[in-house]
Amino acid sequence: MSDCLFCKIIKREIPASIVYEDDHVLAFNDINPQAPLHALVVPKRHIDSLNALSPEDDAIVGEVVRRAAAIARDKGYGDRGFRTVFNTNAEAGQTVFHVHLHLLAGRGLRWPPG
Ligand code: 5GP
Ligand code: ZN
Repeated sequence: MSDCLFCKIIKREIPASIVYEDDHVLAFNDINPQAPLHALVVPKRHIDSLNALSPEDDAIVGEVVRRAAAIARDKGYGDRGFRTVFNTNAEAGQTVFHVHLHLLAGRGLRWPPG
């Protein structure tokens, strides 16, 4: 997807503060952090949203979720706690249409979210 912001970050056409990378997954700090740790964990392969997932995507979704937890643990938030969020479409506030898992930690997070 040539016009996708996160695909451009993956291709290094736009800079980002990268916290993890492997063959399938990239994680980088959110440009507008909502907590002391606010990273976005994304599949390198473009998927618009959770609405576009197919069974072939099960493995990459698992990798993204496990990687978010590993980053949280590595940064010392495993025991304190952390939140992981996928926003999908307008009412949930999705603004970038490349699947991304928000990883938030480092402050008390209210429930329910706004
Ligand atoms: P959404 O609202 O789609 O769930 O989340 C998109 C997130 O991407 C937002 O939290 C926003 O701050 C972040 N974001 C938007 N543009 C950029 C950018 O250019 N770089 C980075 N690192 N994050 C971005
Ligand atoms: Zn993309």
